[in-house]
Amino acid sequence: LTRNVLIAALPGAARDRLARYTRLVELPRGEILHRAGAEVRYVYFPLDCLISVTLTTADGQTAEVGVVGQRGVTGLGAVLGVSGPAHTETVCQAPGSAARVEAGPLIDEFERNKGVRDVLLRYAQAYLAQLSQNVACSRFHSLEQRMARWLLDSRYRLRSDEMALTHDFVATMLGVRRASVTEMAAALQSRGLIEYGRGWVRVADPARLEAVSCECYHVVRDAYERLLNPLAAEG
Ligand SMILES: [Zn+2]
Repeated sequence: LTRNVLIAALPGAARDRLARYTRLVELPRGEILHRAGAEVRYVYFPLDCLISVTLTTADGQTAEVGVVGQRGVTGLGAVLGVSGPAHTETVCQAPGSAARVEAGPLIDEFERNKGVRDVLLRYAQAYLAQLSQNVACSRFHSLEQRMARWLLDSRYRLRSDEMALTHDFVATMLGVRRASVTEMAAALQSRGLIEYGRGWVRVADPARLEAVSCECYHVVRDAYERLLNPLAAEG
């Protein structure tokens, strides 16, 4: 379980108390972990999977607003001690395992235990850095930049050059038409930056893909490392 940076950083006694509310689960791609408007009963600490937080507008358009990997946890509202429904949906983006923890006991720990609170508040700050960067990114950066950034983000969080992703999924996450993603992927492949096939994408040349990406990739990555690396050192 300690492959998740936050779990690894929790005080040992709190981690032990939470153990009986924790289950190791395998998440298939596309699994919806939490639907918009529903009470958050469980939160998920990814061990090697990647989870997208999405939002659907009233006219039915969906886009990714945030992503949660080994350095994070879903259901931030619940984690910060606020129970009740969330307006976002969480869905498994890349399959793998996660620690599923009951929200109630985690909220109790958050309220009682400064060590737990410190870890989760640091993460909240990192996650907010990601969200605010995402707002500027989707407004000012081109699809080519955003797609390069998104692939680099996923690669960083999964620690793997090759990722199980479909064009449909990437299109939904970027909030664009599938045809635009297919066109962009073909262009990036013809320049040797990525390779892809049915249901997979491989980053073939990370350095050149970084040159195509906007600065958002580095900004968010730096924020996560600055806020969460000290935890890894302590834990
Ligand atoms: Zn950007």
